[in-house]
Amino acid sequence: MSAADRRARLDTLQSGRVFDLLVIGGGATGCGIAVDAATRGLSVALVERNDFAEGTSSRSTKLLHGGVRYLEAAVKKLDRTHLKLVLEALRERGALLANAPHLSRRLALITPVYSWWEAPYLYAGLKLYDLLSGRSSIGASRFLTRREALARFPGLQAKGLKAAVLYYDGQFVDSRLVIALMRTARENGALLLNQVEATGLLHDESGRVAGAELHDRLTGARWAVKARAVINATGPFADGVAKLDDRQAKPMLTVSSGAHIVLDRRFVPDDTGLLIPKTHDGRVLFILPWQDHALIGTTDEAAQVEDHPRPAQTDIAYLLDYVRQIFGVEVEEKDVKSSWSGLRPLAFDPSAKNSAELARDHVLIEAPSGLITITGGKWTTYRLMSEQTVDHAVTQAKLNHAGPCRTRTLKLFGAEGADPQLTELVSRGGSRPLHPDYPYTEADVLYATRYEDAVHAIDVLTRRLTLAMVDKAAARAVVPRVIALMAEELGWNEAAQQAELDLVEQRLSEAL
Ligand SMILES: Cc1cc2nc3c(=O)[nH]c(=O)nc-3n(C[C@H](O)[C@H](O)[C@H](O)COP(=O)(O)OP(=O)(O)OC[C@H]3O[C@@H](n4cnc5c(N)ncnc54)[C@H](O)[C@@H]3O)c2cc1C
Repeated sequence: MSAADRRARLDTLQSGRVFDLLVIGGGATGCGIAVDAATRGLSVALVERNDFAEGTSSRSTKLLHGGVRYLEAAVKKLDRTHLKLVLEALRERGALLANAPHLSRRLALITPVYSWWEAPYLYAGLKLYDLLSGRSSIGASRFLTRREALARFPGLQAKGLKAAVLYYDGQFVDSRLVIALMRTARENGALLLNQVEATGLLHDESGRVAGAELHDRLTGARWAVKARAVINATGPFADGVAKLDDRQAKPMLTVSSGAHIVLDRRFVPDDTGLLIPKTHDGRVLFILPWQDHALIGTTDEAAQVEDHPRPAQTDIAYLLDYVRQIFGVEVEEKDVKSSWSGLRPLAFDPSAKNSAELARDHVLIEAPSGLITITGGKWTTYRLMSEQTVDHAVTQAKLNHAGPCRTRTLKLFGAEGADPQLTELVSRGGSRPLHPDYPYTEADVLYATRYEDAVHAIDVLTRRLTLAMVDKAAARAVVPRVIALMAEELGWNEAAQQAELDLVEQRLSEAL
């Protein structure tokens, strides 16, 4: 975004205008809410203290799924709530594949069967998954013979393999989808700014939440913005923002970290992923083709809330160990091309009598002050979570001018074809490749800076081009060129360029 565009947006945010909604947090949930509210005709401001998608929303396994975990619980406990969660998520999976075809695809997944007694159980589970997909089905599950399984996934360890079960889920590019949501919201009139933090909440005389105190991390400016409803969509950071509202607020989250590693593509075919439903310590493990690489995850460890969680050495070793076991190959830490860790917000309703029993996919809570918090859930259901949140805000703040929700069939930015502004940048001489092994061009860097709000080189490298997410060495190699291009766009002097270099190096060597 040009400096002038950012300035203009800041001016509007500082103009004293009262917004219908103020959304805090620019991940999948916050940006989804901005899209939902703006397309209903509400005035919306959204602030994100880092980059869009810099939180959990760029650190997922990138699967659009119904939740095998819930399916198992539904069957074992004959529990309707869990069944409903699977049904909803499968419907949302279908909606996202249709509304963002440029950033998502159908992916075949196979589960190897190493002992015959597992087979009927797995098959029945996946047939139920098909059944629940109903009209949102994206392909029928089926049994694969041993030979078919090996043809489909040649790296799979043949020893002891009896058969496999194949099913379909969706796969997507998570950080780019947040950018698409941000731009869809903006096209519909929402005001969204990254690098702006909510540092406090405003309350009126009766104690109702009425807005927030903001801090622009780029200019240092501080001011307050008023809104009729305030939404805390800060994922794993939700307890922190709730405490800005009420220092006595009870926690609604526990947080666990999940690490991923990326290896080169020889471990996976391009069109099929692998699901290990239960590792020796009871976890689900995926080995997936993603951005021309193999993505392996994930782990599940109790964690502290922090902006840039670092994958532990033990997590990386654990994942590599599985790759060795599954493929029977030698693979070392030096083969890991990138790794990152994300924080799962595991939400519970603090007012519920038995929180463990009532733990569910997401929680939507209104504090006594009126602050609305939406947290937990999963990427797949961001749209439904957003719809429910805006419905709640409309009722709470009596936003009677709001139209009905339109997002179920709303195509997201870019779904109808490449942005002509990108095409123009390419044709004006930006077609020079950044790196010989990757399809990115200089035009992509300029486009990310001018139109996608990248303000730091690391924003471009991780969340716009996703290069650092798959190959840190390649990202390192293009840093000087990316900084030079951005410096020209944003007018960085030498000190600013050095600061960018330091920031990139810190992220690449410590934690993305
Ligand atoms: C390891 C892992 C794997 C996953 N895999 C999948 C998957 O395959 N499929 C799936 O459907 N789901 C998956 N999920 C879940 C999914 O990623 C999350 O549910 C989703 O990204 C949460 O989005 P969010 O917007 O609520 O939170 P976040 O993306 O974390 O966004 C919250 C934002 O709030 C900002 N913020 C915090 N405080 C403030 C403040 N004071 N002012 C301004 N901004 C603030 C943060 O900087 C952050 O960007 C996975 C999660 C993890 C951890």
